[in-house]
Amino acid sequence: MGEKAKYIFVTGGVVSSLGKGIACSSIGLLLKQRGLRVVLQKFDPYLNVDPGTMSPFQHGEVYVTDDGAETDLDLGHYERFIDRSLSQRSNVTTGQIYEAVINREREGGYLGRTVQVVPHVTNEIKARIRQAAENGDDVDVVITEIGGTTGDIEGLPFLEAIRQFRLEVGRENCLYVHLTLVPYIKAARELKTKPTQHSVKQLLSIGIQPNILICRTERPLSHDIRGKIALFCNVAEREVIEARDVPSIYQVPLIFRKEGLDDIVCEKLGLACPPPDMGEWERMVEKIYSMTESVEIAMCGKYVHLHDAYKSIVESFTHAGVANGVEVRIKWVDTEKIETEGAEAHLAGVHGVLVPGGFGDRGIEGKIAAVRYARENRIPFLGICLGLQVAVVEFARNVCGLAGANSSEFDRDTPHPVIDLMLEQRSRTMMGGTMRLGAYPCRIVEGSLAHRLYGVLDVSERHRHRFEVNNAYRTALAEAGLAISGTSPDGELVEMIELPGHPCFIGCQFHPELKSRPNRAHPLFRGLVGAARECKRERADCESTPAAAGGDD
Ligand code: GLN
Repeated sequence: MGEKAKYIFVTGGVVSSLGKGIACSSIGLLLKQRGLRVVLQKFDPYLNVDPGTMSPFQHGEVYVTDDGAETDLDLGHYERFIDRSLSQRSNVTTGQIYEAVINREREGGYLGRTVQVVPHVTNEIKARIRQAAENGDDVDVVITEIGGTTGDIEGLPFLEAIRQFRLEVGRENCLYVHLTLVPYIKAARELKTKPTQHSVKQLLSIGIQPNILICRTERPLSHDIRGKIALFCNVAEREVIEARDVPSIYQVPLIFRKEGLDDIVCEKLGLACPPPDMGEWERMVEKIYSMTESVEIAMCGKYVHLHDAYKSIVESFTHAGVANGVEVRIKWVDTEKIETEGAEAHLAGVHGVLVPGGFGDRGIEGKIAAVRYARENRIPFLGICLGLQVAVVEFARNVCGLAGANSSEFDRDTPHPVIDLMLEQRSRTMMGGTMRLGAYPCRIVEGSLAHRLYGVLDVSERHRHRFEVNNAYRTALAEAGLAISGTSPDGELVEMIELPGHPCFIGCQFHPELKSRPNRAHPLFRGLVGAARECKRERADCESTPAAAGGDD
């Protein structure tokens, strides 16, 4: 199918963090809603083979695909916007490109030639673009985001490759979109176009003439400003797209639509298709903007100063908020602080507690204390991956009476390793790509809270972990009242736990946040936020009827 596909390349200029990922996702959504089959792809110019070995402080969240690739968090935006599961082909790094080229060289695949950036590295990059178009079923449009900012040394091979690519597939099949910043200078009370002119010049100097400019701006672009950008950057005025700052990323496609972006894309690529059906999306965005009620949920992690480390969880809360008609306010709680100041100091008054995934022992005791607080105070709780693991440790210590219980990740000599290394992980020596990764089936126990939330008994969820619940402790945990509500189909791996009798207490070994979509909130997040809403309403009732408040238990 690759031959018939159309290709859109999105570059970024002036500064990073302009929202290229959201821009690509928004274009993808508009084209999808016009009936086209869209795939998105991201090129990352760093030398790591994948972000799996990078610290979240460096990189933000690692997004895991169904096929077990550890990828850039932009893939999360892609999947959430176009609602299509992407594969490892959708994230390509310089590290992967060089790994492939060097391996081929070692195998003698270049027949004695000198191996060079042009043409060998650029050929490998172009091959990856074509591969994206061969993604199983038919693909009409591939949207490729070039990471980094124009002018970065490390991005040059990618820009050279996409320049060449257009010659190969023909100009009618290929489009360059450039995302840029038009800053407002307060002292001059003016929007400035010079940075945009410069970054387009830089692209021109390597042979790429952008066809469409998307301009991030705080203020509306006047007719004059648009004209000036068009003149200096060699595009038509309507090809200058205003991308004004908006409170919700989900509004961006609607703004692009208003600006006629998808019409221009279709025209230029010769795609005959009806206007997009954005009705459902518009209603979702309206809901986000019209919430009157809110709940507060504590996010108890260790990367809380870098919200990007929990990107998909934050988005999942938005989706679950839409589903429940409430705005979710996240209270970022650093679990190291809980260790010194106690759980009460940070969690009193919240309507829900979430303990996310993580690695390493920093802040672990604080996480355990947060779980205990949620369990004892009947606050709705969701533990994800490490969050499930600390919930099991907490229960083992404080309910089963197994003093010193821990995960062997944090205490190799614990007398009760209730969480232990998975069997196939014991002999591993390499770090990259060696966890239990990607989609695995989970069988849910009938009649459990998980069953009520999912509404089905068989689900597939994505994983990224090395440790698991130690089966030697399953009976002890169950006898003390911890229900195992989901397992691998052979029953060997614990995938979900819950506490019957608690309003909502769930732990899952997988990452539900990776599969939540704006119009299809993940059942576990929907459940947590729904329970948080009830928790808040009940507390309000108690306060308004003092007699009832005293009558509790
Ligand atoms: N560190 C834990 C493990 O490897 C949890 C991982 C996670 O939360 N993603 O099992």
